[in-house]
Parts: sequence; C-alpha cells; structure tokens
Amino acid sequence: MELSRKNQNITASLTLAIDAKAKKMRSDGIDVIGFGAGEPDFNTPNHIIEAAKEALDNGYTKYTPSSGIIELRHAICKKLMQDNNVDYKLDEILVSNGAKHSLYNIFQAILNPGDEVIIPLPYWVSYPEMVKMAGGIPVFIESLEQDGFSIDLENLEDAINSKTKALIINSPNNPCGCVYDRELLEKIAELAIKHDFLVVSDEIYESLLYDGVEHVSIASLGPEIKDRTLLVNGMSKGYAMTGWRIGYTAGNQEIIKVMANIQSHSTSNPNSMAQYASLAALEGPKDIVLDMVSQFDKRRTFMVDKINSINGISCLKPEGAFYVMLNIVDVIGRYHNGKIIKGSLDFADSLLESQSVAVVPGIAFGADGYVRLSYATSNENIEEGLNRIEMFVGELK
Ligand SMILES: *Cc1c(COP(=O)(O)O)cnc(C)c1O
Repeated sequence: MELSRKNQNITASLTLAIDAKAKKMRSDGIDVIGFGAGEPDFNTPNHIIEAAKEALDNGYTKYTPSSGIIELRHAICKKLMQDNNVDYKLDEILVSNGAKHSLYNIFQAILNPGDEVIIPLPYWVSYPEMVKMAGGIPVFIESLEQDGFSIDLENLEDAINSKTKALIINSPNNPCGCVYDRELLEKIAELAIKHDFLVVSDEIYESLLYDGVEHVSIASLGPEIKDRTLLVNGMSKGYAMTGWRIGYTAGNQEIIKVMANIQSHSTSNPNSMAQYASLAALEGPKDIVLDMVSQFDKRRTFMVDKINSINGISCLKPEGAFYVMLNIVDVIGRYHNGKIIKGSLDFADSLLESQSVAVVPGIAFGADGYVRLSYATSNENIEEGLNRIEMFVGELK
C-alpha cells in the first residue's frame, strides 16, 4: 500500500541510535554520563505547580477555548509588550501544545507545495521535517563558526527567490548558543520586507542569556516586519516546564486564524491546568528564572574553559540557551582503537563505547564537524564527563 508521499520521507531522528545505545548501557548498569539533555534539569518552580493543583481543585478540568484561555492570552500580550516591546491584540495570540506545536501549526498554515523555507545551519532538528510535513522545501544556508554561527547575509540573499515563503530564525540558538544582535535583525527585517517573505522567529530560549547580552525580538523593529513575523515562544525552557506542553504564537491575525482552525480540528485546546500553571509562571516572580540562569552560567564557563584546554577540540562561548557546539574537525580522520572517526556519528559512537559519555552528533543539526553538549546537567556530571572526553581525545591516533 502506498502511504502518504509527502510524509514518507520524514526522517527518524538521527540521534535515536546513539540514544538507544546509551539507554541500553544504562539499563545494563553502566555509569553513562549524558550530555544530550534538551531540557533544563531543574524542577518546575513550586508556585507554578501549586497553581496547577489549584486549577484542578477549582474544576478547571474541562475543554477550554481551543486557542487558549483568555487570561493566559492576556498575560502573553502583556509579557510581549513588557519584555519585547511589541503590541499584540488577543486575537493575534494562539496558545498551543508546546512551541513545537506552534511551529507545526505555522507551517501547516502558510505553506503550499513547493514553497521554500530558508533554514540557517546548524538548525534545530525539527525545522526541516516540519516544513516537509507541510509540503514545503527546506533550503539551508551555511553559517560559520568563525562568524559566531551568525547568519551570513550574503548567503541569505543568495537563497531568496520567488518561491521563498519564510525564513526561520532561532535566537538564542539551539544548538550553537549564538544570539542575533539588533543590527543583524534589522538587516534581516529589511530583506523580509523587500522580498515579502515571513520570518518565523523561535524565541524559546529568550530568557537564557549570559554576559549581559540582550534579546531583541525582530517583531519589535517596526510595523512592516511585525506584520511578517510569527513570534514563537513558550514555557518549556525558561520556566523548566518541558512536560507541561504550553507554547504560543503571536502574529498577523489572518495567519493566526488559519492556525487556530487547524488546531481546533486536530488537537483542540492545550491542557487546561497547564494553561493555568503557565499563567502563574508569566505573572509570577522572575528571580526564579534568574537563579536558573546564574547556575547555567557557571556551568557554561566551566565547560567552555575545560574544552578549550583540551588539545584537538574547541568551542565558542555560547551567549544563550544551554548548549555548546564542540568542534571536532581536527580529530576527524583519526583513529580510536583502530576505528576511524569519519564524522560526528563515529565520534559520538566511539566516545559512548569507550568512555560511556553520550553526546549528540552534529550531523543531526546539519553540522558534521561538531557534537553538541548540553550543560543542563549537574556540575558533577559535567566535570566527570569532560574528564572522560579528555581521555578519549587523548587516545586518538
Ligand atoms: C525545545 C525547543 C522547542 C520546543 O519547545 P516546546 O515548547 O517544549 O515544544 C522549540 N524550538 C527549539 C529551538 C527548542 O530547542
């Protein structure tokens, strides 16, 4: 039987095999250190959990409006005004089941077969697949580590053509930790207006910033770019709420309406108590978030200094999120126990086998010269894991 043509070429995550191997080793009692975490290791703050319990006690266990409760959408509008300096109305906000769902809805709403979406490398694993699921074509543009992995405007301009429907930007960025500055965003906005394409701005790591770096929302740069921006954010990363599944989109009311219709016929409303918990998060104290950031910051510095003291590997100091892209270009082509390291998959596999350290191969992000390390794990794990990586790299011939 022929299955859906457009969805048959959706690839299973490239990281799955390494992941499965790490899990198997753990269940065999091996002490595996994992640098793969894509979520904060902190618990959801207490007042947020309490708000969810209260919602249950108050009987908020039924369907809510499919686009999200009005109180939460109000709180999102207020947040976007206060933190990001953009003015959205209630009907320009759609609450979904996590930011990933927001992104999925966006591509379903905006793409026709053959439409192109420009995705800067290295990218978050789900972007290309979500574009393909909506019948679109991902078009990748190279960004270089020596430029801080920032968007190369020339590459961007070269990729734009009449089929370009959107550009995805993700700042602070997963996997490279870079943050786009105002100047770059202004230039991107100019191009989007000139060539009339949309900017999908994934701002999920907004609150995880270091060294006083500022987050600028591209939508705040003027009415014309605001109208072409779909701003995506959510509770997962900043509030340690990955399991609650609440994200949102702010954007042009016509697009939001199509997205809301799609959502109403597919998933309906996001989880009711999680919406009340999110309301408490947005309205609650910010020092809890800052405390998490300061702990991430210490781990970041430790990790970056240690990596750069090891011969053969290196990394940039990330400005946001909680990942480090470890450059392995110099060790590609070398051997470990007689096995050649041809790229990031081999590196990750040999490292796991010999030192029981799990990392994410960069090929998953379209960057085979790197592996990604997350510092959303304990200080002890980071220290021990990096010592093992040092031993591993020292053994390469
Ligand atoms: C984690 C992540 C998301 C998805 O977040 P959820 O709200 O948990 O769905 C979106 N974009 C990027 C880049 C992420 O790393």
